[in-house]
Amino acid sequence: MTEDQRWLLLHMGGWQIVSAFCSPEGTKSLMNCRWGSTGGNPPPEAPTWLEGCGWETEASTISPRWLGGKPADAPTFTIKPAAINRFAAELPDGIKAELLACRNAGTANAVMRYRFCRCGSKKCGYGYLKDRICPPTPEQEQAADEEYWRIVEWQDRLLPVVLGLGVDAPGQLQLFEANA
Ligand SMILES: [Zn+2]
Repeated sequence: MTEDQRWLLLHMGGWQIVSAFCSPEGTKSLMNCRWGSTGGNPPPEAPTWLEGCGWETEASTISPRWLGGKPADAPTFTIKPAAINRFAAELPDGIKAELLACRNAGTANAVMRYRFCRCGSKKCGYGYLKDRICPPTPEQEQAADEEYWRIVEWQDRLLPVVLGLGVDAPGQLQLFEANA
């Protein structure tokens, strides 16, 4: 992938990008989710064209988009699933293992939070759903919240390393350029 493509993926960030680098199924769900955004703050050290840059996912293609129109200095590119999968396949084993650990922690946390029920009934009104925690104790809720933010920070630390952007990892950067 080109550096521009990698910057946009880093800007998108979050568990869907982590999940995409974990497996082709993750890439497929990223492409199918029709996830779009008008932007938000670009990551540290990002090129200026990422200011005010959002994205859209349509027809298995990720494209950058700008609310006020494309800036003159912005590159023209899209990202296809095959490029993400090729890039993921070439990642070093240690980074792959950490991506999987991060994704799995995120999945476990989402499952836990989904089990929390606040229906307020003495006998849980959603008892037909398995494994309800009704209601969760304040300690359970706090632990799940803390775990959620730990994973968000983990993703934010991990993705620049995976993408070889904005981090001091010259050795890795060479490897990534070779794979572009
Ligand atoms: Zn309930």
